[in-house]
Amino acid sequence: MKDLKSFTLDELKEEMESLGEKPFRAKQLYEWMHKKQAVYYDEMTNIPKKLTEKCASHYTYTVLTPVRVQESKADGTRKYLFELPDGNMVESVLMRYKHGNSVCISSQVGCRMGCKFCASTLDGLERNLIPSEMLDQIYAIIRHTGERVSNVVVMGSGEPMDNYDNLLKFITLLTDENGLNISQRNVTVSTCGIVPKMRELADAQLQITLAISLHAATNEKRRQLMPIADRYSLYELMESCIYYFERTGRRITFEYSLVRDVNDTDEDAMHLTELLDGLNCHVNLIPVNPIKERDYVQSERRAVEAFKNKLEKNGINVTIRREMGRDIDGACGQLRRRYMERSTVS
Ligand code: SAH
Repeated sequence: MKDLKSFTLDELKEEMESLGEKPFRAKQLYEWMHKKQAVYYDEMTNIPKKLTEKCASHYTYTVLTPVRVQESKADGTRKYLFELPDGNMVESVLMRYKHGNSVCISSQVGCRMGCKFCASTLDGLERNLIPSEMLDQIYAIIRHTGERVSNVVVMGSGEPMDNYDNLLKFITLLTDENGLNISQRNVTVSTCGIVPKMRELADAQLQITLAISLHAATNEKRRQLMPIADRYSLYELMESCIYYFERTGRRITFEYSLVRDVNDTDEDAMHLTELLDGLNCHVNLIPVNPIKERDYVQSERRAVEAFKNKLEKNGINVTIRREMGRDIDGACGQLRRRYMERSTVS
């Protein structure tokens, strides 16, 4: 069955027509789902029961159930664990900034990219999320908090470029004026660097921000941390970043998680400076969030500052990512893992 909440408004109009319904019903349904974030049909008071019953028999309607909400005492960050109807779990994070609320969503259940420091990938990929399941994470948080969301980052579990078609549909729906109407400029998609998909995204010419998980500035070192580096060299990756900038005019963000004595030395900073030379970009330094399955250790505060200074001296834009939600299993995939471990034990 097709999924009702994953249709664009135009597609929904066609569907209504094929069911012998008037096109204005499509707009009504669409607004219930995407403007008012209706959890289910019973909320749609101006839709005849006959039609909602028809929809229920023709389409799936995705529902996320919050099974756990953790709030950080330090910064108000909230981490949500949701259950999907098939029993799978996904996690999302709400971050509250002065300039507005930002939601970090997952794009897949699990992940098959295999980055060494990441908890999401330890059990591999379970399945892709469909567009509505990505939207639902945001909708559920809006419903739960009663607060607006102004920014969305696709930086939770999963590799968005490994679920490209669903991702693009999700962005279309998220930024649609008949739905949440979030500006493309307030959407960030993070990738470990699947080069052909990055080029495809560049050609789509959206105004979203592309973030690249770099984490190392030589091929050799990157291969130790990220299997994707065996498929695409840094040269190919950087070429596709330049292409993205040329096609969209959007400055690339590079994420660099600092791991003590692995990628945080003066020499690493020098390699990074050389790699990014002349590129219009921004670097986000993130002290690695240790996961218990691996023995990666955070860089010392001093090393982080020194790394930052070195880049800045060379004219590179750099910020140290504020660690939010550290006390609530903030790192990708940690909450889901912990919850599932507990469930298998009990
Ligand atoms: N698959 C996408 C998006 C999900 S990960 C990507 O690779 O970009 C979001 C970011 O968190 C990535 O930069 C990822 O490398 C980083 N990350 C994952 N686990 C981490 C950890 N334990 N500590 C610090 N950063 C981590």
